[in-house]
Amino acid sequence: MKAALIKGPRNISYDTVDDPTIQDGRDIILKVTATAICGSDLHLYSGGIPQVRPMVMGHEFMGIVEEVGKGVNNLKRGDRVVVPFPVACGHCFFCQHDVPGNCENSNPEHYGPEGGLVTEKGGGLFGYSDLYGGYDGGQAQYVRVPYADYGPRIVPENLTDEQVLFLTDIFPTGYTGVDWGELKPGQTVAIFGAGPVGIMAAKSAILRDAGKVIIVDTLQYRLDKAAQLTGCHTILWEDGAKDVVAEIRDLTEGRGADVCIEAVGFEPSRNILEKAKAVINFEAGSVKVLEACMSAVRRSGYVSVLGVYPTTYDNFPIGQFFDKGIILRGGQAPAHKYIDMLMGYVAEGKVKLDDIITHRLPLSQIAHGYEIFNKKEDDCVKVVLDPWK
Ligand code: NAD
Ligand code: ZN
Ligand code: ZN
Repeated sequence: MKAALIKGPRNISYDTVDDPTIQDGRDIILKVTATAICGSDLHLYSGGIPQVRPMVMGHEFMGIVEEVGKGVNNLKRGDRVVVPFPVACGHCFFCQHDVPGNCENSNPEHYGPEGGLVTEKGGGLFGYSDLYGGYDGGQAQYVRVPYADYGPRIVPENLTDEQVLFLTDIFPTGYTGVDWGELKPGQTVAIFGAGPVGIMAAKSAILRDAGKVIIVDTLQYRLDKAAQLTGCHTILWEDGAKDVVAEIRDLTEGRGADVCIEAVGFEPSRNILEKAKAVINFEAGSVKVLEACMSAVRRSGYVSVLGVYPTTYDNFPIGQFFDKGIILRGGQAPAHKYIDMLMGYVAEGKVKLDDIITHRLPLSQIAHGYEIFNKKEDDCVKVVLDPWK
């Protein structure tokens, strides 16, 4: 089959690889009909999260069930499904507590070159490096989906692929940001990052009847898109965090936002890029956006960290966290927890997801897709790929 392989930093190739096969009774093989590039993929692309062995990328995908393992009774060949991005068993302590992104049956623990523990057992993701379980992803014609009796959701016939594709990740992720923030009707949310995740957080805040939705970004075209799609108030991050925080305070009677959502993530330092050849070598990325969130939130407010950070860091704003009594939550979004409710919103027409798509490409142009999405060229917001073109 054809697939997008990562072969090193900034090296994504359109290749021919073996078709996936059923390896466990709870597997299905999915014929992928639509797949997307996520901001999270850029952390692998940049080398910030290293991957040495070539691996099929992609965790935002949907398709038609091609083959069903003996233990999967809720799906049959021909069903059209969307697949939540965490690989999760459905039975372990964490899955039972609605945090499938921590599933302990999807990823072993990982140790660094000197033997120290880097990540604890748990947290497998599709197409997201050997550190996250080493599962081949869905930027391909076919993908093996483990624990398929727990993750995949059947899509109503009247909804198109593009209408539901973002239920795999970015819509549940954006919703997670407001839900972790316990956003109440009338409250103000400030979202840092007007990428796909930030825009989905804004759409989610509107669904929760937010009073004011503010979005911050360093790129004007992204802010324009966010304003056009959600009617949010926009702030351009030009000269630094100080001006942004001041403007958010002006909009919130000097107190700060009730909820801040970090939808940017770490920037790999040059150092990380140089060392990315090692299997495991995380170092601190930039935490300036996280610091701005902690400054822009009101005392006793909520900060949801959706942006991805590596496991080691420095400069964590512990002083603000403590002094202001901030309620902080972060991590992989529990997509399984929200997907059915959010699919209902899409089916009822309460929210539109496909309006963020700016580029539709054949999978054969995957390298170009990564390049423009990474460099934020050609007014790119979201790239969707057809694996059969
Ligand atoms: P993206 O790269 O398209 O968007 C990031 C946006 O942040 C860009 O528009 C960029 O211009 C903006 N930005 C950069 N510096 C900024 C600053 N100082 N202030 C404000 N904005 C700034 O990516 P995306 O797809 O929207 O994803 C965003 C983050 O969310 C990534 O880190 C991704 O890994 C993460 N993510 C997390 C989960 C989860 O489960 N927690 C799921 C999906 C994505
Ligand atoms: Zn993603
Ligand atoms: Zn589990």
